[in-house]
Amino acid sequence: MSFPPRFLDELRACLSLADVVGRRVKLVRRGREFIGLCPFHKEKTPSFNVVEDKGFYHCFGCGVHGDVIGFTMQMESLSFPEAVTALAAQANLEVPAPSREERERAVRLASVEDAVEAASRFFAQALATPEGREARAYLERRGLDEATIGRFKLGYAPDQRDALKRALIKDFPEPLLIEAGLLRRPEGGGDSFDYFRGRVIFPIGNRGGRTIAFGGRVLGEGQPKYLNSPDTPLFEKGRVLYGWAAARAIDLPDLDITLIGIPTKANPLGVKGSGQAGAIGAPQTVISAILNALAPLGVTHIDMPATPERVWQAIQKAKTPA
Ligand code: ZN
Repeated sequence: MSFPPRFLDELRACLSLADVVGRRVKLVRRGREFIGLCPFHKEKTPSFNVVEDKGFYHCFGCGVHGDVIGFTMQMESLSFPEAVTALAAQANLEVPAPSREERERAVRLASVEDAVEAASRFFAQALATPEGREARAYLERRGLDEATIGRFKLGYAPDQRDALKRALIKDFPEPLLIEAGLLRRPEGGGDSFDYFRGRVIFPIGNRGGRTIAFGGRVLGEGQPKYLNSPDTPLFEKGRVLYGWAAARAIDLPDLDITLIGIPTKANPLGVKGSGQAGAIGAPQTVISAILNALAPLGVTHIDMPATPERVWQAIQKAKTPA
């Protein structure tokens, strides 16, 4: 959903950035600015500045920067439309009704979401079949138990040309499956085929926990080692903040997490977790959450101890595999 620029300007003008930020961050006035402890990285001396008359904030510690909408998106992990809608409610502004085009797009998006959801179920089921045995063994070696596998909807994409396609084509038109990043067409033309084949599947979720894309790690020696869904209407690699959920999860006071990610022969993914995670469950769950979120990105190492800041650095440093 898009909003008329005039409406967005009005929204920004109606809201005091310092008020909105001030609800989440203790701000102190300093001249024409406000400063406080950055909510996006851990610090003891304030480097988070709010420039009220220009309507932006900036952190000299971690470099975050944005306006009132950006702050709300980052702070509450909302999408752009979600943030705008929430802020409009605060400002008592009516959100302009969507045009017919936008309504049609919304319907289409919903079908893409359904297709991705159906694919996620297919991958999860495939993991439980005899064909998924190698994938299950791989996850087991990583120390992921049944409960974790179920919770994060991990799956397996069978090593076949069109297993997923055959399963979904009854319910979804082919162009939609291509748009959803589930099928691809050969460059030279011909029948479309499964985008993920012979891979362990890590769903990439949005804030609401809905699957919007997948990361797939190859079993065996194939290339690339990690493959992500292509850009789709639900998933734009440049914009989705991978690991957002995980980074939030570990951004809890007194959460002591150790995450070591140097692959060795004995430990192919090189993952070991320890620590206390009382607030959000067993340590294994936390580690799994982080891994689940970061593995598709190819993050293999996070400096110790794995503070939220370091997780961010690792996310930012990691190159998205082609
Ligand atoms: Zn910061």
